Amino acid sequence: MTDLYARHKAVIPDWVSLYYQDPIEITHGEGRHVWDADGKRYLDFFGGILTTMTAHALPEVTKAVSEQAARIIHSSTLYLNRPMVELAERVAHLSGIPDARVFFTTSGTEANDTALLLATTYRRSNQILAMRNSYHGRSFSAVSVTGNRAWTPTTLSPLQTLYVHGGVRTRGPYAHLTDARFIEACVADLEDLLGHTGEVAALIAEPIQGVGGFTSPPDGLYAAFRDVLSRHGILWIADEVQTGWGRTGDHFWGWQAHAASGPPDILTFAKGIGNGMSIGGVVARAEVMNCLTANSISTFGGSPITMVAGLANLSYLLEHDLQGNARRVGGLLIERLRAIGASSDLVREVRGRGLMIGVELVKPGTDEAHPKAAAAVLEAAREGGLLIGKGGGHNTSALRIAPPLSLTVAEAEEGAAILERALRSV
Ligand code: PLP
Repeated sequence: MTDLYARHKAVIPDWVSLYYQDPIEITHGEGRHVWDADGKRYLDFFGGILTTMTAHALPEVTKAVSEQAARIIHSSTLYLNRPMVELAERVAHLSGIPDARVFFTTSGTEANDTALLLATTYRRSNQILAMRNSYHGRSFSAVSVTGNRAWTPTTLSPLQTLYVHGGVRTRGPYAHLTDARFIEACVADLEDLLGHTGEVAALIAEPIQGVGGFTSPPDGLYAAFRDVLSRHGILWIADEVQTGWGRTGDHFWGWQAHAASGPPDILTFAKGIGNGMSIGGVVARAEVMNCLTANSISTFGGSPITMVAGLANLSYLLEHDLQGNARRVGGLLIERLRAIGASSDLVREVRGRGLMIGVELVKPGTDEAHPKAAAAVLEAAREGGLLIGKGGGHNTSALRIAPPLSLTVAEAEEGAAILERALRSV
């Protein structure tokens, strides 16, 4: 046990989740690599927690942040600052939401909190629809709409939440349906639910479930849901905290895989936009955003030191077409991992889009989740110099791969080879 970990146990709550038995102390990073306190180098296949969107220590971001720090770190969000307005303009334009307003927060949780506040106020209802197995953050209201019981530390709730089918399909009665039949079944379930309930404010949903193990509903599911929701005046909140900014390769946002439904009413974002700086936010059309009548600010949301990071990071992403890179390199990596999976009796499925790839592990010869194997593969990959994530439903049995979007083909190969050895060793 490291000295730092021993001291950590004395001051940090027991429920703070740590990946490794002997936790890693990261000291610095560059590109797609990070180093620990012993000088060991790791290929970062989890991009922080999908937070390092472009690359570690990207010079453009570092320069913008240090120049801003020398001018002023935080003025007050009661005043305006130019980087905030400029980033709001760019995000509003990219969101696809007409007449969009943008409100910056400091995390994904606070962004979803704000979205729920807007939806419940706009619709004058505290009833929310959420997806089974979902994760939306750790505040009281975000936990209240989180369907993943492994991440629900309280069952008390300030919101009335009804859980909808559609997010998970890897097992159970829906597993063998065609996409079209699956969508039909989920729509029928949603209609049935709405037939037995009063006014509902919104459906909150991740276009691809992140913590849930990178599980993706079939394209078009949310378009089909939207038809039903629109008939009832129910808003659609797309939680793009993990799926935004081109990570999924084919699309800039996850909702675009369901494009017939048009943009969501409310979009929330966080993680990658600041390349590790704490930026979250909410986008909504003016009518919805402006429904709050009392004063409200986020003290640190929109702080200039984070906004310049967001601007520099977004410019780099767009100018270097990292979405295209995620599509190309991610496509190759998925193929390579499928080939590896085909010769491992632990791997049930390799799924994903762009650089958001899930590898589902099972007990050999069964369909049963294998959380022990997932934990062991993480440890073995770490030994080999590769950091990956894990996730899933009540059982954490999926490996999660989400490197910075600048990943090279050689790095994808290197990471896949380490993972192959890790799978063999378990
Ligand atoms: N929404 C989704 C989809 C997430 O994956 C997360 C975090 O993992 C959150 C919200 C909460 O974001 P944060 O941890 O920045 O509060």
